[in-house]
Amino acid sequence: MKKLALIIASVLTVSLFAGFAPKSTSEPTAKPDKQSVPAWLNEVNATPTPEPTARPAGVTPEPTADPNAAQTPEPESSPSEQPSDTPEPAQIPKPGFVRAGTPEAETVKVPILLYHHISDDFNLTNAISIISPRDFNLHMTAIKTQYTPISLREYVEFVNCKDGSKTLPTDPIIVTFDDGYLSNYEVAYPILKKLDIPATIFIVTDTVGEKSGDGKVNYTHFNWEQAKEMQDSGLIDIESHTNDHVKLGQLDKDTINYELRKSKYQIEKHLGKTCDMIAYPYGSYSDEAIQASKNAGFIAQCLVGDDATDIDYEVNIPRDGVMNLTRITVSGTMGNVNIIELVRKSIANKKID
Ligand SMILES: [Zn+2]
Repeated sequence: MKKLALIIASVLTVSLFAGFAPKSTSEPTAKPDKQSVPAWLNEVNATPTPEPTARPAGVTPEPTADPNAAQTPEPESSPSEQPSDTPEPAQIPKPGFVRAGTPEAETVKVPILLYHHISDDFNLTNAISIISPRDFNLHMTAIKTQYTPISLREYVEFVNCKDGSKTLPTDPIIVTFDDGYLSNYEVAYPILKKLDIPATIFIVTDTVGEKSGDGKVNYTHFNWEQAKEMQDSGLIDIESHTNDHVKLGQLDKDTINYELRKSKYQIEKHLGKTCDMIAYPYGSYSDEAIQASKNAGFIAQCLVGDDATDIDYEVNIPRDGVMNLTRITVSGTMGNVNIIELVRKSIANKKID
């Protein structure tokens, strides 16, 4: 019933916002200016705080006065349980963080969220991969309050750390996007900047800058200039989702190598950075594709979590490494309460042997 209510709410939202839906032809051809921001984005920004009644029981409402308070992880135990005369040990991560290579590091579970297109123009058939701007804003606000967002690269560096120099928050969460939609630039990027949440966008290099209606894509993708602006901000990392959005698990070796190397080359040429992470389209992979990716220089691979056929609720743990990362696909029918519940359930379901 709850799900049905959400679906109905989503449909209502669609009709309410229909007049403000971004037109696919509105993609700026020159450097984007502030006037290109969709009108409804102001409305999204004006309602950043979730409805208190929508919060699950026991969850502390987001503080409105001190935004920094939400960034400090809660200590695992109550301060009153610790002797007050014990001095703080030096050179040990503050409570809420674990150091690479320690037994504690093995207990941290790492959810990686996967988003696609962000638009009010979703319906019951496409809602599995599209989320409304309002819901996306609510999700980001919620995870910022409940978890510590880190970049995928921070996690990769933590897992690969051999000298104990890296730390990981005990409540991490990672945000990723697949495909490279213009809405990631126009809608998600301003929200991520506002909340200081890092994200990785896995792009299909052959469709960068393609517009809906031109035959190649359903929804307009951001162009290289926009990709560069996001990459240069330091908050967004652009990585590979192959060149042609293909099922790597079903291809011969030569085609796999072409897809991997061309996408990597394009990203490095246009963005002036090393491209070394990949997300497999449709979650389609094979031993050959994994090996070819390693050989091509990819140090982290998201194997599952891309499409409706591939919904996966698994979270990651450091000992599993970063060559078989799993993600949580977020759909348009998930509201604010659901994203936190979904993450909590995913974490609870992950068993550490
Ligand atoms: Zn994809």
